[in-house]
Amino acid sequence: MTERFTGSFTQQDPIPEAGIDAALAVLRHGRLHRYNTAPGEVSETTLLEQEFAATVGAKYCLAVASGGYAMGTALRALGVGPGDTVLSNAFTLAPVPGAIASVGATPVFVGVTEALTIDLDDLEEKLDQTRVLLLSHMRGHICDMDRLMAMCDAAGVQVVEDCAHTMGAAWNGVPSGRHGVIGCYSCQTYKHVNSGEGGFLVTDDPHLAAKSVMLSGSYMLFERHLAAPPPEAFADLKYTTPNISGRMDNLRAAILRPQVADLATQCARWNERYYALEAGLRDTPGLHIVERAEKETIVGSSIQFLLLDWAAERVIEVIDRCKARGVELKWFGAPEPVAFTSRYDSWRYVPSTPMVTSDRILAGVVDMRVPLTFSLGDCALIARIIRSEVSAVYQLTAAAE
Ligand SMILES: *Cc1c(COP(=O)(O)O)cnc(C)c1O
Repeated sequence: MTERFTGSFTQQDPIPEAGIDAALAVLRHGRLHRYNTAPGEVSETTLLEQEFAATVGAKYCLAVASGGYAMGTALRALGVGPGDTVLSNAFTLAPVPGAIASVGATPVFVGVTEALTIDLDDLEEKLDQTRVLLLSHMRGHICDMDRLMAMCDAAGVQVVEDCAHTMGAAWNGVPSGRHGVIGCYSCQTYKHVNSGEGGFLVTDDPHLAAKSVMLSGSYMLFERHLAAPPPEAFADLKYTTPNISGRMDNLRAAILRPQVADLATQCARWNERYYALEAGLRDTPGLHIVERAEKETIVGSSIQFLLLDWAAERVIEVIDRCKARGVELKWFGAPEPVAFTSRYDSWRYVPSTPMVTSDRILAGVVDMRVPLTFSLGDCALIARIIRSEVSAVYQLTAAAE
């Protein structure tokens, strides 16, 4: 009998009951705006910022409207503007180059390795072109952060980390987002906490924190923040910083607080699922496992494997055959971007020259979401389906040659 998977790849866990209760309380009192508080009340958004700062060990945290907004704010706070270039990953999601474009700057793409991390040799060659790197830990893959930070520090390049897929992850025990000068996170439904939309920016730098708070639209209410620097840090900034409105609201914050408290548990659940899938895919002929570094603490909310040097028709065949058995795979090698799978050469507002080594890897990247609603049994079943279809197509190809 041919096995089939009947679950959903886009169904997340429900919001925890504590979040639903807290959200209803906010709806009942009606004070959704973060600065709309009753006498003596501390808003949900302010508490969320304190709690997230403590979770990642940051001095300052600002909650905002989205992960993309957090990245744009980080670049603005660093003074990036029109005419500047910002280094970033060739393999990332569209909001990353979008954040750079939003401040009028131009992305310069850095290649990707078979580990699906930024190519540090390529980065080294390009460091003299800029003073800021927007580093995307795309799909949760963390590069050798020790080497990257040493290189960037030596070149005077400041690092902003895009941790949309690494909230809860770490390199060498240091939380992702705490290596660079600013860390940015997303609370969008497909990331590690879910408020529909939302984001965080964290830093230990009081000037950058104060500037980000003003930029996010705090008006002169910045003293209501409890994860922001003291009022002195705002002394001049409050007159010179434009309000580029993008605040978090109390409804989303109420939904997020119990999820932030639960993050470590959820990450462990993701990893059980990830490693079950990885074990099931290991030693499949023609399929290349993306090995994880020893210093990396992962959050396996998605899994990737490579069909390296496969002809495009064969990759498409694998994807179609898996789909027919209920397994939804995404391919980053398709000539036309589909859903979330665009890559550097799809963003035609950015000048780029073909990157041969990266193109070979991107042509083989197959991606799958791992929602927490999958059971471990589901993961084993999905791995068996992928394994059998990859093997079948691989054997056909070998026979034809
Ligand atoms: C989702 C995502 C973002 C942006 O997050 P939003 O909250 O949707 O703006 C940034 N980078 C990566 C890699 C992402 O996947």
